[in-house]
Amino acid sequence: MAASRTLSTFRLLPLPTIREIIKLFRLQAVKQLSQNFLLDLRLTDKIVRKAGSLTNAYDYEVGPGPGGITRSILNASVAELLVVEKDSQFIPGLQMLSDAASGKLRIVHGDVLTFKIERAFPESLKRQWEDDLPNVHIIGNLPFSVSTPLIITWLENVSHRNGPFAYGRTQMTFQKEVAERLTASTGSKQRSRLSIMAQYPCDVQHILTIPGQAFIPKPEVDSGVVHFTPLTRPRIGQPFRLVERVVQNAFQFRRKYCHRGLGMLFSEARRLESTGKLLRLADVDPTLRPTQLSVLHFKSLCDAYRKMCDEDPHHFAYNFREELKQKSEKRG
Ligand code: SAM
Repeated sequence: MAASRTLSTFRLLPLPTIREIIKLFRLQAVKQLSQNFLLDLRLTDKIVRKAGSLTNAYDYEVGPGPGGITRSILNASVAELLVVEKDSQFIPGLQMLSDAASGKLRIVHGDVLTFKIERAFPESLKRQWEDDLPNVHIIGNLPFSVSTPLIITWLENVSHRNGPFAYGRTQMTFQKEVAERLTASTGSKQRSRLSIMAQYPCDVQHILTIPGQAFIPKPEVDSGVVHFTPLTRPRIGQPFRLVERVVQNAFQFRRKYCHRGLGMLFSEARRLESTGKLLRLADVDPTLRPTQLSVLHFKSLCDAYRKMCDEDPHHFAYNFREELKQKSEKRG
């Protein structure tokens, strides 16, 4: 094991630095693809160390760009690293890395939003959900333009145990501007829809803060590195889409009492009565603000809403935006 680590580190050493690669291939940051690069290998090493032990792991890196995090992952004695990069300007530099990494780096020139990671690694890595964590990790300095939809898709994948979670409880570590929102606790200013959606199926830890000046070009805000471990049992035992609906509506009016947003789950004609019933069944104080609701409160609200939808399926089909649109069409 020690020999293979020395070998992989040794093979990466003679490569040009990331700065030299940027010059050599005339790489330029493209705003539309949210490109902010991490060039300091001490920092990328730290991010990778914080992801946990990667020895013999199968890693999936989203958006490797010029390859800073990629090098640190390869130096962590992984079995295989698969990277998916959309922008063709990075492929020759990554190819250079791959040549130096004795077959450990697989490069896919494609889009993370459509790439099927569940088919990419050996079947033998798959674990039962309740078993130990599989040796499969997702790592990345996520592109801002796709990060929120990507995180929501992954969280939905956790609940269906598919996508990257077809291997079991795959861990994820990524850099994100919204790290504080993902990890915000009950009552905090940063508490949002993302906090609940992330914290009900996973343990979420904010493990590192990265100052804006560490990126080239420098983004507007500092960002953080967040580590996700899916739970064997989610804290809310209802379907993802139902939870998403309740949480989204609750945060509709984040400064108002929670009954205002939750009321939007129900048609206007029965709003008052149905919202009252929901809050009574869930035993939640209607005058709490959305940010003051704990995951446990949301569990009760989702269970109560499920009960009401089972009694009357019209509730689940209702969309307040549709009702507003129809009304304004009638008036118009
Ligand atoms: N990992 C590199 C680093 O830390 O220096 C680059 C990070 S940069 C924030 C995001 C990277 O994701 C860019 O290389 C960008 O081209 C890539 N990217 C953006 N959208 C993508 C997509 N839909 N699929 C794959 N890669 C994407």
